[in-house]
Amino acid sequence: MRAGETLGIVGESGSGKSMTGLAIMGMLPQGGSIIDGSVRLGETELVGLDESAYRRLRGNDVAMVFQDSMTSLNPTRTIGDQIAEPVRIHRGVSRREAIDRAAEVLQLVGIPRSRERLHDYPHQLSGGMRQRVMIAMALACEPKVIIADEPTTALDVTIQAQVLALLDELKSKLGMAMILITHDMGVIAGRADRVNVMYAGRIAENAETADLFAHTQHPYTRDLLASIPLLEQDRDKPLYSIKGLPPDLAHVPQGCRYASRCALATDKCRLEEPSLRGDDPAHTFACWHPVDGRPAEVSVTLSSRPPQEPLRDDATHRLRITDLAKTYPASTRGSRRGGSVLHAVSGVTLGILQGETYGLVESPDAVSPHLAG
Ligand code: SF4
Repeated sequence: MRAGETLGIVGESGSGKSMTGLAIMGMLPQGGSIIDGSVRLGETELVGLDESAYRRLRGNDVAMVFQDSMTSLNPTRTIGDQIAEPVRIHRGVSRREAIDRAAEVLQLVGIPRSRERLHDYPHQLSGGMRQRVMIAMALACEPKVIIADEPTTALDVTIQAQVLALLDELKSKLGMAMILITHDMGVIAGRADRVNVMYAGRIAENAETADLFAHTQHPYTRDLLASIPLLEQDRDKPLYSIKGLPPDLAHVPQGCRYASRCALATDKCRLEEPSLRGDDPAHTFACWHPVDGRPAEVSVTLSSRPPQEPLRDDATHRLRITDLAKTYPASTRGSRRGGSVLHAVSGVTLGILQGETYGLVESPDAVSPHLAG
């Protein structure tokens, strides 16, 4: 990876994405060890580095944004202390200077009144704010490489877009290289320069992002792309999904690891494991029968949305809410701020019929009664 570059690592749970990130960070779970290969950060070989040397690098030259900010932040310490800690350790500055830096990076990640927020504890912030704090912690020492492990999984789509845009902007501003780990092909499409598709602990396909989408070679990549739901899909037809489960990595099957789920599997696939290959070294794949961009055999027909039903005023509603409003006093650390009031909810009216699924989404344009019947 070069400075300013984003590498996407994509794959379903258990494919080895996070484990790759943790291996780079020297933070493998207990019992895990690197038994082969090399990880070089600039001139430094990380494999075999002792823990004290790793501590000097971690958070300073390479940093990680973890996926769940609520469990990754320390609930007993203020966010100011947590962001300042790596600055004090790696920069050797005073506590005051470290706190000043913490306020600076909080500002950088778009948290308003950053100096005031330094005194907050993680539970006092929203999910989006906590994720920004995680990014601030990772950026505090301006690392050369940042590993963002599903940084937006726990966030709703609007905050997700903001956090991803922020990571992009900061990466360019600070000249970092970024590894973006995700199971979401949409996140990859908009952000990564290159993509590694991983399956069962191995790289299945590696290509520049545009090339991967336009000239997919590996059936697993193609199946992942076919699994993305489209708004215009016929809602009466089941969504495309990849049948079966990834193999148990304690008992790796012979041959291609995807064979039990692959529609193109042959006897050769079940006997011999393919290695990464390809005519173009910039686009490699591990498959005996590449699909050459052919789409998965998934029947998707276009259909217009059924007209939305008006809210019915009859007795069949299982739940009916009329003009609901909710406020609560705005406060920080238990003290009320000048008696100001937060209007959490106002004027909400909805009715849920028997057997109905009601969708509530955040976009003002999309919220309407009977969005999903
Ligand atoms: S090697 Fe065979 S089983 Fe494996 S992905 Fe390719 S076609 Fe499917």
